[in-house]
Amino acid sequence: MRKRWAMVMVLAGSVLLAAAGCRGPANGVRSSRGGLSQRPRRAVVGITSAYIPKGDYVKVYSAYTEAVQEAGGTPVILPVIDDEALVGQYARMVDGLLLTGGDDVPPEAYGEKPVKQTQTLSPRRHRFEKAMVEAYLATGKPILGICRGCQEVNVVCGGTLVQDIPTQVGTAVVHRAAKGAPRAEHTVTIEPDTMLRSLLAAGTARVNSNHHQAVRAVGKHLRVSARSADGVIEALEFTDGRFGLLVQWHPESIGDAKHRRAIYGAFVRACGAGRARARDASGRP
Ligand code: MN
Repeated sequence: MRKRWAMVMVLAGSVLLAAAGCRGPANGVRSSRGGLSQRPRRAVVGITSAYIPKGDYVKVYSAYTEAVQEAGGTPVILPVIDDEALVGQYARMVDGLLLTGGDDVPPEAYGEKPVKQTQTLSPRRHRFEKAMVEAYLATGKPILGICRGCQEVNVVCGGTLVQDIPTQVGTAVVHRAAKGAPRAEHTVTIEPDTMLRSLLAAGTARVNSNHHQAVRAVGKHLRVSARSADGVIEALEFTDGRFGLLVQWHPESIGDAKHRRAIYGAFVRACGAGRARARDASGRP
């Protein structure tokens, strides 16, 4: 009975808003069905942020939040915090984790000293992301790693990195454009029988590229799913049954909308399926 009243009140509220000429939540975005009395159906995707010591703030490029939103997910930004208990709570709260790009993973994390080209990210962000990935991987929920996020997950899984592609690989492929030049682009070849191959329904893809590091030794429960022509590893995926895709390029800001939607769409769908399974198991609506 109480529930019915709540619904009537929500409906009455919507009518009042409509009468007052309010457009409701964000123009052009459909509100979740059932109003506030029901748990939203959209999957919640936690997005890691960059910590900027100079100025003491966190930032996230809107391309990430917009790609998640476009794919039907609810983006939430995870601040960089120093509290392991909260990291565990974040891991339980979200249906998916999106690890964003940024500066370089500290080479000490895989047993190397930094070379001079390495621009290590803030120690605070590194501590948070490492703890977040460790806590999150234990949940088995979907994960999407972009650029530095790909490298971070590989290192947490026991892998290592090429610290600087131009000096350590010596390639003709431009993976990061010179300052002031247009963003680099190159082709990747996708391995057969991979999730990436079925997502993109193609053996090659043209991708944007803005990295100077790459995966060297592949971590546990991961396999290579794409490489560039110089042999540099461009994508990894998990082999343990979870949805886990790690790419060196930036599908959220790629010009090819079909490519962006294929990757973010599959990720958010996997998050939604996991959310529905958790809801059924809990017996809650
Ligand atoms: Mn590249």
